[in-house]
Amino acid sequence: MNKQMNKKVVKEIVDLRHRPIKDLRISVIDACNFRCSYCMPNDREYKFMAPADRLTSDEIIRLTNIFTDLGVDKIRLTGGEPLLRKDLGTIIKGISENPYVKDIALTTNAYHLDNNVQMLKDNGLSRITVSLDTLDPKTNALMSGVKCELDRILKGIDHAQKLGFNPIKMNTVVKKGLNDKDIKDLVLFAQKNNIILRMIEFMDVGNQNDWKLENVIPSKTLVNQISQYAPLEPIDPNYIGEVASRYRFKDTQGEIGFISSVTQPFCNSCNRARISASGKFYKCLFSTDGLDLRKMLREGAKDEEIKSILIGSWTNRDDNYSETRSQQTSERKKIEMYEMGG
Ligand code: SAM
Ligand code: SF4
Ligand code: SF4
Repeated sequence: MNKQMNKKVVKEIVDLRHRPIKDLRISVIDACNFRCSYCMPNDREYKFMAPADRLTSDEIIRLTNIFTDLGVDKIRLTGGEPLLRKDLGTIIKGISENPYVKDIALTTNAYHLDNNVQMLKDNGLSRITVSLDTLDPKTNALMSGVKCELDRILKGIDHAQKLGFNPIKMNTVVKKGLNDKDIKDLVLFAQKNNIILRMIEFMDVGNQNDWKLENVIPSKTLVNQISQYAPLEPIDPNYIGEVASRYRFKDTQGEIGFISSVTQPFCNSCNRARISASGKFYKCLFSTDGLDLRKMLREGAKDEEIKSILIGSWTNRDDNYSETRSQQTSERKKIEMYEMGG
């Protein structure tokens, strides 16, 4: 596709901390077929929204067009598990037709990747991030909360690479005492298979993952540990606002990233916004409330009206939760990550 790169934004908007809006993460569905212990622990029941309450594909595409007028040029589709949404291809196709979207990425647990990867490619998806926390079947069952054949996920990754999704990124949430023993295997696997591993500090998203600081392994510790068998060297970010600190392997090809929301917050350059499957607009992963865009769409608001409300909302944004985490009380009622979109 011939994309027009010089965007004429309606108005370049920045928030109260001078951060523009660039990266929009859209949750296409709240439901998931996994029950990861750090996201949707499997010791309780979940009630997911009715399909009619979800934004339709047309509504998602229309909102994307509105957001690109405000400066957004990267879209990530997430959830819940986005591959559970039957019209995902229609959504991707519609977004890919917007000439101002430079990049459309998908974050998935990859359980349904193998069957869908050709469809993702055909509709114009640019990149895939697979979430996988371990290569050990027992630990995988504990962390994903389901009995899931690892082979199925690895097959999906291999298929995606064969179709040209290169490099694949792999998100690994590290939880002390659970998968920290498996990191070396993951690093060696990623090196061998040309995958960019991104180790994510276990975060206090939502209210039900029983988060404790003592279960977080600081990225600095991981960098030191990994350097013992795979020497690392820091490299520059790809762009302003990139959340992962990047390192390259000194002795071989490839890189690895560390997302250190807990020990090295990056609120300073955070240019991310989120839309939930129900159409709520959130300005921070740790928000307690969002702006109801679905209501506006379904009550017949014009694009210009929605734009001006969004400009008002973003220019008043002052979020910096990760920098103030230690001062926050446990009573803060955060939105769950599977609802808001990771
Ligand atoms: N279901 C898809 C998946 O897991 O890839 C997409 C949604 S999931 C909420 C998006 C990302 O958030 C995943 O990579 C997951 O590992 C990450 N995540 C979820 N809960 C987290 C937590 N408590 N701390 C850090 N990362 C988390
Ligand atoms: Fe599902 Fe992703 Fe949450 Fe795991 S992290 S429960 S795969 S939404
Ligand atoms: Fe952005 Fe909020 Fe995370 Fe800070 S805590 S980096 S403002 S999402």
